[in-house]
Amino acid sequence: MNLVLLGAPGAGKGTQAKFIAKKYNTPHISTGDMLRAAIADKTMLGIKAKGYMDKGELVPDEVVVGIVKERLLEEDCKMGFILDGFPRTVFQADALKKALAGEGKKLGLVLNVEVSEDELIKRLTGRRSCKECGKVYHIIFNPPKNGDVCDVCGGELYQRDDDTVETVNNRLKVYREQTLPLIDYYRKEGLLKNVDGVKPVADVERSVIAVLEEAR
Ligand code: ADP
Ligand code: ADP
Ligand code: ZN
Repeated sequence: MNLVLLGAPGAGKGTQAKFIAKKYNTPHISTGDMLRAAIADKTMLGIKAKGYMDKGELVPDEVVVGIVKERLLEEDCKMGFILDGFPRTVFQADALKKALAGEGKKLGLVLNVEVSEDELIKRLTGRRSCKECGKVYHIIFNPPKNGDVCDVCGGELYQRDDDTVETVNNRLKVYREQTLPLIDYYRKEGLLKNVDGVKPVADVERSVIAVLEEAR
């Protein structure tokens, strides 16, 4: 399965991508996670990306396209992949199409997770992530069992630098201007499937499975 998860920041792409990755044993490729790992490692890529991310702007297309192309060439992507947070611009979508075509591949499905803007703001500002294992929580919708440590590994939970109210508003603006056109883009390609993301996580998971199974 060559899958793209589309949706606004906070729609639940990461949550669903992790679920699908586990269920279908397919690699989860999150450009946001890759960029945050580069920031933590203080690589050139990380240093370059951080300025954009903290402002809620997109990291330049050539940079992100480069890291995704490299990742897709790895062995574990041979049988399929789940892209989460990429593509985010028409340029990136075109570059992805070209890169896949070069390997004799194409996308099978684009899942668009739909959530209203009010709900997105609540989800983003309440999001907490584990410093150690990356597991994602929500202070109200999906709270950790013990205060502010991770249920899985006991790691410390933190709030992402870009999950503040000010940055969230800019990210939503950037989404509307640069990413929303991809819905039409993939609809025209006949790849788009919408999933209602405004339900508890387990219900969204059920809808996602239904769409994936229908497409297989
Ligand atoms: P994205 O990757 O699209 O930015 P995440 O998967 O990180 O989104 O989810 C954003 C926040 O919303 C997280 O705190 C997550 O726990 C929470 N969340 C995800 N899905 C749901 C859902 N269906 N209902 C309520 N909260 C959710
Ligand atoms: P969310 O889904 O909550 O918006 P991500 O973790 O996917 O967050 O992305 C965080 C930030 O990383 C984005 O705001 C952007 O600065 C950068 N980023 C991630 N993916 C891309 C991409 N495909 N193109 C450009 N920038 C990206
Ligand atoms: Zn953890």
